Amino acid sequence: MYNSLRNKHILITAGPTWEMIDPVRFLSNRSSGLMGFEIAMAAVRAGAKVTLITGPAPNRYRLPVALHRQQVTGTCCVIPVVSAREMYRACLKHFPKCDIAIMTAAVSDYRPAAIARQKIKKGPKTLTLKLVKNPDILAALGRRKKPNQLLVGFALESRNILQYAKDKLRRKNCDLIVANPIPTLGGLTNIATIVYKDGRVCQLPHLTKRRLAVRLLKEIIG
Ligand code: C5P
Repeated sequence: MYNSLRNKHILITAGPTWEMIDPVRFLSNRSSGLMGFEIAMAAVRAGAKVTLITGPAPNRYRLPVALHRQQVTGTCCVIPVVSAREMYRACLKHFPKCDIAIMTAAVSDYRPAAIARQKIKKGPKTLTLKLVKNPDILAALGRRKKPNQLLVGFALESRNILQYAKDKLRRKNCDLIVANPIPTLGGLTNIATIVYKDGRVCQLPHLTKRRLAVRLLKEIIG
């Protein structure tokens, strides 16, 4: 892999997003961001220029430190964001100059329609939260993709993994989708299936996310 990604610019999203309800509460998920961080590390080691847009994942600031400790050939710019809309804006800004975009982030599909300015006080027995849809970042990049750009999505499903992944690949105009089951969320390993645009399906063995990151980049380079 040494220098195999030299002169390539890779955009990576990672982690969860936080959708604020009031100044102290938010909607989110269990994503650790690890998959995206491992891909970023592997890409930098392979000589790529990486832009990592990460939601508030635990340890998101450890990545630059880890990179400094290693013998690296590429460079990594970490852009911390909080909400899906912030991640969306950052992705639209950085996508045009990237060769490959790998979207591992577990973006919240919905956000509260309004953020309360003050902490919501306990009140009646039930409380209804109105949610509105967040922009789909992967789909937006799929619409903007140029022929020389490669777009990779992730699909986390609790059922019909392969069918949903194939459908997602087509709908979001991706070149490759990495489908994985729910237990991978927040874990150290993954049993991934790669679905290619030409219909090929490759079932990978149980791998650590570190090994999967390297394998995935090899698949992408071809
Ligand atoms: O539709 P679904 O959320 O299952 O799609 C998963 C893929 O889409 C992942 O690659 C994820 O990073 C991306 N995604 C996104 N923006 C969203 C929702 C998902 O980029 N709002």
